[in-house]
Amino acid sequence: MSAVSEHPGEAHHEDLGGRLNWLRAGVLGANDGIVSMAGLVVGVAGATTDVRAILTAGIAGLVAGALSMAGGEYVSVSTQRDTERAAIQLERQELEQMPEQELDELTAIYQKRGLSPELARRVAEELTAKDPLRAHAEAELNIDPDRLTSPWQAAWASFLAFTIGGLLPVIAIALPPVEVRVLACGAAVVAGLVLTGWTAARLGSAPVARAVMRNVGVGVLAMLVTYYVGVVFGITVG
Ligand SMILES: [Zn+2]
Repeated sequence: MSAVSEHPGEAHHEDLGGRLNWLRAGVLGANDGIVSMAGLVVGVAGATTDVRAILTAGIAGLVAGALSMAGGEYVSVSTQRDTERAAIQLERQELEQMPEQELDELTAIYQKRGLSPELARRVAEELTAKDPLRAHAEAELNIDPDRLTSPWQAAWASFLAFTIGGLLPVIAIALPPVEVRVLACGAAVVAGLVLTGWTAARLGSAPVARAVMRNVGVGVLAMLVTYYVGVVFGITVG
């Protein structure tokens, strides 16, 4: 927290980076929801014109997909947090048992980053005097001990992002009349994927046009494949 008062510019930059990461994860989660749910409902629509069947599959898919995304995120962030906590704990022990070596270690890190030996030593000493654990966690492990990601927060965010994205194809296929159902859904999905692809590219500072085309291409391919699988399945079974 002390960083905020001493380096307002830096802290602001960090906050912005954190927020952008969240936004980016949200956009990717929504993108996932659009593509997988579009594939699902278009596939069912290839097999049947019964809107209740399409909607049932859509709702079940939405719940299953959102829960699976949230569960996966929960497990992965929990594991990451356990790893970070263990590393911080080890660092804490080392600081208690061999403070001298730890000071040398911190000095070496700042020297490697380009400071002169004397300045590196001073930086290490001053940071150690203030908050040794934070100094080591940040320099050595690249972890901010106050900002470990919450697994529940990450899970909830994925759940929400997938649901928002996934609702688009479900609504777009359920509302229009039967003759234009699949086309309307396809158009809505393309529009949604242009938006998510564009946003993700902008947030990641990547070339926008290529990212959008790739994103739309993947989504359209998924719909084409599942649609024809649905048609073939519908003919074979029905
Ligand atoms: Zn250390």
